[in-house]
Amino acid sequence: MSDPKGFLKVRTRHEAQDRPVAERIRDWNDVHAQSGFQPWTQEQASRCMDCGTPFCMTGCPLGNIIPDFNDLVRQGKWEEAYQRLSMTNNFPEVTGLICPAPCEQACVLGIHQPPTMIKADEQAIIDQAWKLDYVKPMPPQRLSDMTIAIVGSGPAGLACAQQLTRAGHTVVVYERDDEIGGLMRYGIPSFKLDKHLIDRRVRQMEAEGTVFRTNMEIGKDVGWDELRSRYDAVVVAIGSRVPRDVTVPGRGLDGIHFAMDFLPDANRRVEGKEPINGIDAKGRRVVIIGGGDTGSDCLGTAIRQGATSVTVLQINPQEPTERPDNQPWPTYARLYQPTTSMQEGGTYEYNTDTISFTGIEDVAGSERVTLDDTGLASGFAADGSGHVTGVKVVDVSGGKDGGRGHVAGTERVIDADLVLISTGFLHPDTESLLDQLPVDLDGRGNVARNPQFETNQDGVFVCGDAGRGQSLVVWAIAEGRSCASAVDRFLQGASELPAPIATTQKPMRL
Ligand SMILES: Cc1cc2nc3c(=O)[nH]c(=O)nc-3n(C[C@H](O)[C@H](O)[C@H](O)COP(=O)(O)OP(=O)(O)OC[C@H]3O[C@@H](n4cnc5c(N)ncnc54)[C@H](O)[C@@H]3O)c2cc1C
Ligand code: SF4
Repeated sequence: MSDPKGFLKVRTRHEAQDRPVAERIRDWNDVHAQSGFQPWTQEQASRCMDCGTPFCMTGCPLGNIIPDFNDLVRQGKWEEAYQRLSMTNNFPEVTGLICPAPCEQACVLGIHQPPTMIKADEQAIIDQAWKLDYVKPMPPQRLSDMTIAIVGSGPAGLACAQQLTRAGHTVVVYERDDEIGGLMRYGIPSFKLDKHLIDRRVRQMEAEGTVFRTNMEIGKDVGWDELRSRYDAVVVAIGSRVPRDVTVPGRGLDGIHFAMDFLPDANRRVEGKEPINGIDAKGRRVVIIGGGDTGSDCLGTAIRQGATSVTVLQINPQEPTERPDNQPWPTYARLYQPTTSMQEGGTYEYNTDTISFTGIEDVAGSERVTLDDTGLASGFAADGSGHVTGVKVVDVSGGKDGGRGHVAGTERVIDADLVLISTGFLHPDTESLLDQLPVDLDGRGNVARNPQFETNQDGVFVCGDAGRGQSLVVWAIAEGRSCASAVDRFLQGASELPAPIATTQKPMRL
């Protein structure tokens, strides 16, 4: 039972402080000055009204039992709060940091007051739980004789692995990278998500019995068909990494890269490892095409690397700051929420489309030339090679949902030595999978599955971005948990593992 008058006594949120911008852009450490349990955490948790119908829970794909843990936080019952939270979420240290918290948009208090601080509560609980040594490995009490291979160690693969290991199966996670974590390891920068959080979880999972094999690319080092013949079930959790390109004239110029060729290098350098592509923003005029999560991470990274300027191009208009009528409570509204990277510098240009790239030939004494809209320009090598010098852009009229058009006369060139494309991801890279274990794909190129997360290949399952398409960590964890339940049922005929979402479930939007 929550404090019935809590929300009347405490009417505002107490947001945690971030480190000063001037300080944090000089390092790669967590941007937050305050996180985890704070002096105001319990008072804030008392604002939860313990609603008869907790709409907040409908906003969370994991079905976190939010009113229960809010009240346990209010009372400072950390061990019970941790037990409650870990029933539904395998990695609250990650969602507590980087989840966009759709639950808070669905909070009933949010109708007339700022919503409760659910995400911060989640972070406080797991922080306290680690500090007070409540987080212990939970190895199974009894082993089945079933074996499962999980391909991909992002949040979907890891959640699936942890659930199935705890259910008593022998689980091996195969990862082509040299470290576990998927996009949490090499996509999301360490100033947003410190990598020791992943290492700590991996140690817990190893102690429970999950086996990890890194530097193993399935389809190359071991065939998909061979893997299927060796294991009782295979889970495809390979993420969705084929990037959407910007196919305009000049795309072949040097200095134009996909975001996911840039971000992993930056993360590798922070870990003291050799970069793979050698891309560095130091001293460069950077233009980032695409302003979502990935674009924002490129921005914060480029600033830390010492870019001389950063411009982020966003084809859509800036989101509204207040809920528009067509996105009413409790749906997830697309609102303007400046990221910590956006507070650090750079310029956002909204309603802006890319027409072409301008470039300079790689020959001594060559002159800068601008490509016209057909891609033809004098001064270019016949094969269009050279180095990028700018991005030709134009204003766009009309909104995201209305018809868009270029505004004549607004064409201009933004100087650039480094262009990063972060316009989203199309689908998973399924080339070797289709060759060796021909699964069906859906209309978008994702791996198709039935409501039991199973592909058309017997005993081959898919979860996370590979099946759902590019999404969020919270959805990936929910997918991994539901898929684990389906695999367990496939192997044993029944399962007690929870299945928080269906394959077709989507964020609550109108
Ligand atoms: C830059 C960036 C920032 C993001 N920021 C956020 C954020 O702030 N908040 C949020 O909620 N979400 C964020 N996301 C989205 C989120 O990271 C993904 O939705 C989530 O990681 C998907 O999890 P997954 O397990 O399905 O796939 P992934 O995390 O992509 O993991 C898939 C893994 O499979 C491995 N793999 C692929 N093929 C093979 C193979 N053949 N053999 C072996 N291993 C293989 C890959 O190396 C990878 O490690 C971000 C995404 C990006 C790109
Ligand atoms: S995982 Fe995300 S949506 Fe779920 S309770 Fe935590 S912050 Fe909210």
